[in-house]
Amino acid sequence: MKQYRWFRADRCRVCGQCLSFCPVVSLPAGAARRDRIIAREGSINESLSLSYCTTCNACNFICPAQSHPYELVLERFDEAQRNKGLPGIARLVFPNEYLNIWTITETLLTRKEKHFLKQWENNLHENHSTIMLTGFYTNLVPFLLDQVMFQNSTVPIAGSEGLWGSGGDAHKLGLVDITETIALLLKNKLHSMKVKKIICFMEAEAAMLQEILPRYYGIDYNITIIPIEEWLLQQIKQGDITIRAPLDIRIAVHDNCMSRYLNGKPQKTMREIVKRCGGLSVEMEHAKEKSLCCGWAATIPSLYRNASLFGIALYLLYSLDKRLREGVDAKADVMVTGCPACYIFLSVAQYVTRRKIKIMHLTQVVSLAAGQPHNAMMDRRVRDIIAGIIFFLLRWVSSRSVREHFHPALPQTDDVQAIPVLNKSDAKILLRIRSILDSPLLTNRITQWLIAMMVRLAVRLYGLYLAFKRKQFISKQR
Ligand code: SF4
Ligand code: SF4
Repeated sequence: MKQYRWFRADRCRVCGQCLSFCPVVSLPAGAARRDRIIAREGSINESLSLSYCTTCNACNFICPAQSHPYELVLERFDEAQRNKGLPGIARLVFPNEYLNIWTITETLLTRKEKHFLKQWENNLHENHSTIMLTGFYTNLVPFLLDQVMFQNSTVPIAGSEGLWGSGGDAHKLGLVDITETIALLLKNKLHSMKVKKIICFMEAEAAMLQEILPRYYGIDYNITIIPIEEWLLQQIKQGDITIRAPLDIRIAVHDNCMSRYLNGKPQKTMREIVKRCGGLSVEMEHAKEKSLCCGWAATIPSLYRNASLFGIALYLLYSLDKRLREGVDAKADVMVTGCPACYIFLSVAQYVTRRKIKIMHLTQVVSLAAGQPHNAMMDRRVRDIIAGIIFFLLRWVSSRSVREHFHPALPQTDDVQAIPVLNKSDAKILLRIRSILDSPLLTNRITQWLIAMMVRLAVRLYGLYLAFKRKQFISKQR
């Protein structure tokens, strides 16, 4: 494997602009310069940006010297995982680990959704010049593709979590070798299928295939890539989707972490679609080039700064809730995202905090404005995912081998990797947990309000702790 070195230390003037601009740490100039030096030479725990970086990559776009400060974060994470591996909780996002989130959730999908997954995987075994690639996290919410616009389309839908999301998660985790392996295997797979054009249902995968893998890994696909929002806009412009029921609601676009790539075009296209759907586009405090990640990526630095499981959960909830609060503060009725992962995690956060904002995927907003049914079963899926996480945590507590640090295994095949299936006794436990979540004891309004208040309080206290840590870091300058 090549040793990638993307951060250009020779160009960096240690001006600190990147960490002043950073929407997470937002440090004053002196502290930003100091943290930039620590991030290069010190330990992850000493650096505020490395400890809390949500890998949003905003810093790259402000650096006047094109030093690639975001890639310094990835290099430091890569170094850390090579030395000691990843904490057991990270097993959730590796499809070849037994306790991954896709294996767990698949047990709870509807029969129709399971049929979709099978069909999408079968389409990977045939030759197609154009496909709609589902994407890693789409397989947790297959119902999103059960909408009229996809039933009317003649483009075959293909995909599997066994394709590892085009390496998107691995890249953000700083797992450079794994990303490269996934990207090369995917290239072989797509070329063997003779694919010439891909419509990427998952925005992040469009950025991976079109920009990140060619630019940073030198892996060019020579395939035309069309992100989902571009495809939707084309469908509206061509009249294949007619806006019959313009929405008269306030909509905040959540720009996902990879929307800055492709010259920021996904951000502009999302807003144009909202406008064409009749929605009033409102902006959150952090938007476009300064957008916060949905919060999910807050788990990444926590894996490397030796946070406890409690610390990982708190930073994750804090970050997700922060994004929701920005939507509420902008008085948005709906927060819309083109990324299935953001859709899932923001929906889970909304469910447990009961913030007054609806989370929708872009395709659902378009269906709604087209007067078409938009499959709205996210409440159910949120409970499925929560059940899956509780099940994983029980296994984490009861089994040392699940808790242990591990070095993720490389994917081995250039075809679709079959993912593990839950054994019968585990599936039974999971189904039991799932049924408890549906019990009136937990679904009644008082219990949900109490849970929401407890989560909000925990998140508020954690926010105060973070503010204290930041203040302490800044005061060391003087
Ligand atoms: S990476 Fe860029 S913005 Fe950051 S300190 Fe270096 S030169 Fe300045
Ligand atoms: S990637 Fe985002 S969160 Fe991380 S240091 Fe850069 S701007 Fe801050």
